[in-house]
Amino acid sequence: MRDIDKPRVLKKIKQYTTNSERETFLLAKKLAASFKGNEVVLLEGELGAGKTIFAKGIAAGLDLKDVHQVCSPSYTLVNIYQAKYPIFHIDLYRLDQDAEILDLGWEDYLDQGVVIVEWAEKINFELDGLRIIINIEEGDMRRIKISGLELP
Ligand code: ADP
Ligand code: MG
Repeated sequence: MRDIDKPRVLKKIKQYTTNSERETFLLAKKLAASFKGNEVVLLEGELGAGKTIFAKGIAAGLDLKDVHQVCSPSYTLVNIYQAKYPIFHIDLYRLDQDAEILDLGWEDYLDQGVVIVEWAEKINFELDGLRIIINIEEGDMRRIKISGLELP
């Protein structure tokens, strides 16, 4: 389909400021409560920004009982949690080769549940989703920009 033929979906950008881990968690939890089950959440931000906290909030919003099990996948490349929908939690921190990232088996996750990707800035192929950019400000303050939200 040519770009010009695609239905135009209006996207909006929202900006938030949080002042604690809890506020970031609750922001993500609220966002996820309206998920339909096939969302892709692309998390960007430096080490310690709060990407994993945001992922925990998403999981809580999808009714995962034990959100403590949500941690950055390290030995396994993908963590899977059974919540209202399956959640596929991917962390690209240790992957630097484009080929490794491409070979993660995306086709097994996309559209099979909610996909959460930490260090999404490392992806250099087109992947549509909700982009969450977390910037560390002073102390516990984080500026969080969410784009790719479809207007209701
Ligand atoms: P990342 O996954 O981006 O490397 P984590 O989510 O693992 O980061 O860790 C974020 C750290 O920052 C936690 O120790 C958390 O307590 C702390 N923190 C302080 N303020 C905030 C905030 N406003 N939002 C999220 N995390 C915060
Ligand atoms: Mg992390």
